[in-house]
Amino acid sequence: MIYLTSLLVFYFGSILGSFLNVVSLRLPKGESLVGRSHCTACGHTLSWLDLFPLFSYLLFRGRCRYCQKKFSSRYFLFELLSGVLFVWAFWQVNPQDLPGYLLLLKVWVVASALLVVFTIDLEHFLIFDSVLISAGLPVAALNLILDLLSRQLSKLELGSLTFGGVFAGGVFAGFFYLLWYVSRGRWIGFGDVKLMFFLGLALGWPNTAAAWLLAYFLGTAYALPLLVLGKKQLSSRLPFGCFLAPAALIALFYGPTLVNWYLRLLGY
Ligand SMILES: [Zn+2]
Repeated sequence: MIYLTSLLVFYFGSILGSFLNVVSLRLPKGESLVGRSHCTACGHTLSWLDLFPLFSYLLFRGRCRYCQKKFSSRYFLFELLSGVLFVWAFWQVNPQDLPGYLLLLKVWVVASALLVVFTIDLEHFLIFDSVLISAGLPVAALNLILDLLSRQLSKLELGSLTFGGVFAGGVFAGFFYLLWYVSRGRWIGFGDVKLMFFLGLALGWPNTAAAWLLAYFLGTAYALPLLVLGKKQLSSRLPFGCFLAPAALIALFYGPTLVNWYLRLLGY
């Protein structure tokens, strides 16, 4: 039963991934998200048979059925990664009751947003407000509903998703705003400030801190070999969102493990 459910979840994730890929391709170009897909080479409108996630790509060997031009493998990779993320979240949350399913929904929304943020930031050095807002509003609503269900809201504590989220978002967005202001946007972009508020809402306290530290570790691990080999200069920009997004994903699933690890590293 768990295998069948996982398979369904995987396929649901890959269908959504197909849409998220379209979002990450069209948003930076200012194109509508709802229009039908065309082959970029021959302009033929693609039918559901051409757009069936993963299978169409395998069935037609990644080529357009009408002009035989090869599609970018990014379609396949996006659908695959999205499916894997959705199943991973399903296994981690392992929902048994209503709060469990609501939590899973929240994790799926956050993971989808991070996938889009990562891709667009990597390609265009941009983080779109529309992505953060369309994921941030349902996340805030789900935080509130989950708190109401678990009666956490009556206590003004960081353990509640709502207060913890707003607190973490406020603290980190504030800190990033300072970095942005002091460096006049050279160290980080203003998009990172807004992304931090979203991550605060999504991860709460102290998982946002764990994600933030991990993003620096990832960034250093990426930049150091390049600097040593003289391939990059310190001034060459790396979009920080590209490190924050995967770090946040890891913190989303393994936040408490990460926090314990940091504390041990500091000798606590
Ligand atoms: Zn074509």
